[in-house]
Amino acid sequence: MNKKVKQNIYDLSREDLAEIVSDLEQPSYRVEQILEWLYKNYAGNIDEMKNVPASVRDHLNSNYIFKGLEIEKHIKSNDGFTQKWLFKLLDGSLIETVLMKYDKRATACISTQAGCAVGCTFCATGQMGFVRNLSHGEIIAQVIHTAVVMRNSGKRLSNIVFMGMGEPMHNYDNLMSAVRTIIDPKLLSIAARKVTISTIGIIEGINRLAEEKIQVGLAVSLHGTNDAERQNLIKAASKWELSELIRSCRNYYKKTGRRITFEWALIDGVNDSEETANNLVRLLKGIPCHLNVIPLNPTENYKGLPSSGNRIKTFKDLLNSAGIVTTVRMRRGIDIAAGCGQLKAATPPKRSKLQRA
Ligand code: SF4
Repeated sequence: MNKKVKQNIYDLSREDLAEIVSDLEQPSYRVEQILEWLYKNYAGNIDEMKNVPASVRDHLNSNYIFKGLEIEKHIKSNDGFTQKWLFKLLDGSLIETVLMKYDKRATACISTQAGCAVGCTFCATGQMGFVRNLSHGEIIAQVIHTAVVMRNSGKRLSNIVFMGMGEPMHNYDNLMSAVRTIIDPKLLSIAARKVTISTIGIIEGINRLAEEKIQVGLAVSLHGTNDAERQNLIKAASKWELSELIRSCRNYYKKTGRRITFEWALIDGVNDSEETANNLVRLLKGIPCHLNVIPLNPTENYKGLPSSGNRIKTFKDLLNSAGIVTTVRMRRGIDIAAGCGQLKAATPPKRSKLQRA
């Protein structure tokens, strides 16, 4: 006899729960009780749902699994501020989640896909290729895992960045339903302004996001100031012209009034010259924005290196003096391969035991 495959409980929408509750002839307020256990109390198993009747608990227990994330690897940085998990999903796919603690905030970096089809040459995930999109529940399970870690240390998870494995805009529908769960005051209740979606520049996704009327942040990775430079670093960039991407960013600002963050992986001798900085100033002219310069996180299969301190400073100063607010982002957790996909790349396939946060 085939063993029944359980689904991730976070894949249940409010409507799905309403149907289950109604089929079990329970009053509709049971839905809110279950949601509260899942998203406010972060219940780790069905037995915690004490005020939910046994018939509902039995149904949930036999058909759904909590989280569906198996810890394959968990490492902490030497400074203790960054930790990273390599999770195995129910089908064996591997994904990564990072938690970064700062003075006044804690940010979870969440994956939206196993692997990635964009193929950034310097990115360990891009070097592996695409496996599959994550479901709404698999995205949310990562958020809840990090929220539990923060709660156990007496603090709250405050920020979410969709900068983990995958291109979020390539999994748009599951991404946005997860965002709605994250910002819903009755569910995970993280302010929309504290949520950032990062894209390599998928124009269709940026245009859709501009229509969403959700105040989340948008970060666009540029890395080059013309099509040839970008295509050199981002294989999939040949599908969209940079001029079209910039037009869509202008349109995004016009529609939402929200300043865009542009991301720039600074690579020694590749995109860190004064000429490139001047070209970047011209490219971003008139777009209210912030530029994040991130010295490259070296990966095994890419020869490029991070720029030197002097070149980073010159690049940053030139942009700042031209009126583009530029910050150099600290490379958190470099000692634990916190760059996207690096932990998976360093892990040979093997069986592991189920662990919980
Ligand atoms: S940097 Fe992001 S978009 Fe590029 S390959 Fe890596 S995961 Fe994909």
